[in-house]
Amino acid sequence: MPDPTPDPDLLADGTYAVEPVAEPGGGTDFTPVVELERVCLRCGYDLRGLAAAGLCPECGAPVINSLRGRHLRYSDPAFLTMLSIGARLVLAAFVLLVIGWAWAVVTRAIGVFWVGSVSLASAALGLGASICGLAGWWLISSPDPALRGHDPADRSRSVLRASLIVAAAGMMLSHFGGMIPVTAGGMFANLTRAGFLLGTLAGLVKFFAAMSYLARLAQRIPDEDLAMSPRFLRNVLVVIVLASIALMVLVVTSSGFGPGGMIGSYVVILATGVALLVWSLLYIAMLRLFGREIDEARRVAARIEEGALRPF
Ligand SMILES: [Zn+2]
Repeated sequence: MPDPTPDPDLLADGTYAVEPVAEPGGGTDFTPVVELERVCLRCGYDLRGLAAAGLCPECGAPVINSLRGRHLRYSDPAFLTMLSIGARLVLAAFVLLVIGWAWAVVTRAIGVFWVGSVSLASAALGLGASICGLAGWWLISSPDPALRGHDPADRSRSVLRASLIVAAAGMMLSHFGGMIPVTAGGMFANLTRAGFLLGTLAGLVKFFAAMSYLARLAQRIPDEDLAMSPRFLRNVLVVIVLASIALMVLVVTSSGFGPGGMIGSYVVILATGVALLVWSLLYIAMLRLFGREIDEARRVAARIEEGALRPF
C-alpha cells in the first residue's frame, strides 16, 4: 500500500507547483492553480492554468496526483504493465545466467564440459538468458507516454536501448555468423568472433546505462534507498573485476607459471568466484525489489483507474 500520509518533500513540491489566486472580489477564498509546467502523469496533458483540485480534462485523473512528483503509481497502468513484465524478464534472465555459470563451473570441474549434450544445454541456457534479458531491458525501459520529451531518464534510456540493439545484432552474428559467407579480411573474416566482441562491448555499455536508468526509475517509486542500489552494485562490480585482474597480474609476475603461481592464481579465481556469487545474490535481491515496487505501483494505478482510490 502507498503511504497514506503525504511525504513532506513531495508536499513542498506540490506547493511549488500551485499558487493561490485571489478572488476578484478581494475575499480570502482562493483557488490554487497550477502555475509551473506540469503534465498529467496519466495522459501527458499540459496542466498549467488548471485548478489543482480539479480533474484532467483529457483523462479525468485528479490534477493533484501529478503535482507531487512523477510517481509511478499515478502513471498509465498500461505503461506500468510493460515495466512489470520487463522487470520479471530481467530477473529471469539473470537467474538463468547464474545457473549457466554454475553449470559451466560444475561440468568443467568434473571434466564433462565438452560432452556434446552438456555444452549444447549450456549454449541453450546462454541464448535463453540473452533473449530474455534483451526483451526484459527493452520493456522495463519503455518510455512513459505522459512524459514524452521531458523525462530525466531519457538519456540513460536512449543509451540503454541503443546498446540493446547492438547487443542483439552481436548475439545474432555470434550464433549464426558462421553461416554467412564473407569475403572481407581482418576482424570481419570471422563473423562469429566479431559478433561476440560486438555483443560483449554492447553488454558492458548496457550494464552501465541500465544501472543509471534503474536509479532514475527508483526515484519515481519513490524510494531513495533503492535509487542508491544500482550505482552501489555497479561500483562494487567494477572493484571486484579490477581487484581480481590486479591480483592475477601480481601473482603471475611474482611467482611466474610455476607451482606457486598456479596455486596463487587458483586462489584468486576462487576468491573472485565467491565475490561474484555474493554480488549476484545482491543484484537478484535488487531486481526482485524493483519488480515488487513496480507491481505495487501498477496495482495502485489500476485501482485509481477503477475509481476505488481517491487522491490523498
Ligand atoms: Zn490526463
